[in-house]
Amino acid sequence: MSLGHVWLVGAGPGDPGLITALGLAALRRADVVVFDRLAPHELLDEAPSEAIRIDAGKSADNHTLTQDEINALLVQHGSAGRRVVRLKGGDPYVFGRGGEEAIALAKAGVPCTVIPGVTSAIGGLALGGVPVTHRGIATSFAVVTGHEDPTKPQEGVDWARLAGASDTIVVLMGAARLDGIARALIEGGRPASTPAAVIQEASTPRQRAVTGTLATIAEAAQAAKIEAPALFVIGDVAAFQQSLAPSALAPLAGKRVLVTRTRAQASSLAEALRLEGAYPLLLPAIELERRVDASAAARVAAALTEGVYGWTVFTSANAVEAFVDALFEAGGDARALARTRIAAIGTATEGALRTRGLRANLVPTEAIGEALGTALAPHVGGTRVLLPRAEGARDTLPAALRVAGAEVDELTLYLAAPPAEPPAEVLAALRAGEVDVAMFTSSSTVTNLASMLGGDLSALSGAVIACIGPIVAETARERGLRVDVVAEPHTIDGLVEATRAFLHARRPARTEVR
Ligand code: SAH
Repeated sequence: MSLGHVWLVGAGPGDPGLITALGLAALRRADVVVFDRLAPHELLDEAPSEAIRIDAGKSADNHTLTQDEINALLVQHGSAGRRVVRLKGGDPYVFGRGGEEAIALAKAGVPCTVIPGVTSAIGGLALGGVPVTHRGIATSFAVVTGHEDPTKPQEGVDWARLAGASDTIVVLMGAARLDGIARALIEGGRPASTPAAVIQEASTPRQRAVTGTLATIAEAAQAAKIEAPALFVIGDVAAFQQSLAPSALAPLAGKRVLVTRTRAQASSLAEALRLEGAYPLLLPAIELERRVDASAAARVAAALTEGVYGWTVFTSANAVEAFVDALFEAGGDARALARTRIAAIGTATEGALRTRGLRANLVPTEAIGEALGTALAPHVGGTRVLLPRAEGARDTLPAALRVAGAEVDELTLYLAAPPAEPPAEVLAALRAGEVDVAMFTSSSTVTNLASMLGGDLSALSGAVIACIGPIVAETARERGLRVDVVAEPHTIDGLVEATRAFLHARRPARTEVR
């Protein structure tokens, strides 16, 4: 039996992108993941599908596991030779009881590694708009617990001593005791006029903040119905909150962006959005189901090899992948394309060809079917053209090629259909109008989303509508949407860039940063 190992991994304050590279690597190789309520649940998808996932907040009979039970669980799985990730919100050693777990594992002789995380006390605070130190304003900070152990005879935190000891005071687990903490600090000599802020669920799409002073903050937080988990920060740096909140610094930051591409394709767009500080909401409005007729694929492969097709035309990266796979399944490979010239609709398709060792002979300047037809027209008269693509795709391109004198053979590669089970949470957020920007990368995502919503896209009436190109925009308008952004160039980066520019131009008058 192999020697087990436990990794105590900090998951960061809430945004799944804030785990460390090493933490993610541990997660991707885990046999068992024991996670806390505060660890972002999206990260659980990063563990292998066969990994055992254990919610430390719940046992079989639904009670919260005690620390002793968690320690025993880690020792048990570690001793059984498994690779165990103990995933905790923030940093494992900042009010995370990670030290107790490491001690229990050391005592039991189970190897253990700590992988630190971005603590909410510093990183969460930063994304809440508050720098924990600031030159000339705060040269020290203290992180304290606002949740006293009720079994302790006297209070564990000496608020009176703390009041004057640190420029910035960050209180964790204090959401329910703001009033008492503020009073204790004032009694300890901190001026009642000291700036203070409370930030709930920092670095998540649900982030909210209230600001005030030690005298006013508890009431303001109560009026705003602030709840745990929240950070309570006291000190002059708290006055920065509004001017340094992410949404004040970058146009897409804090925006909830609906991404309607297929699950497989969403990741590059989601990543680009996360880098802008946005929160992608993934609602794949389209699912591609490979549907290739084996005998048709074999006939096409043979004809290609014989040099029958003057041109092979690809209108999406998906088509390139599915077509090369179909050649493989027919017993051939990319060499079947040796005697045909290749056209690609745009740079993404061209890139998909390149990763398979294929060069496009022609790429139109604008990535739409009309432009591709126009660019090909002078070359295809009297030739046979192969068009491998989705069933039910638009007829514009084959029609244009036929007008130009080509004989066009289509090969169906897949069906595009709305997803069988759209994610309920995202649909609910959409219906509740909680989407700031909706991005569409193909006409079928617009039509499918409309059908998923019972034909009514009015839930998007308050959102910025961004489309990858003019054809998609036209479809969106036909469905009653007011299109705000049409990307140029018609690429994912172009779409993100055009949306940033739109939001940047629309931003409110600049507030002065002190
Ligand atoms: N180990 C964690 C802290 C665990 S104690 C860390 O390093 O961040 C739990 C407390 O952390 C919560 O009560 C809350 O005060 C704070 N907290 C954790 N995540 C938070 C978030 N995203 N937003 C605001 N507060 C958070």
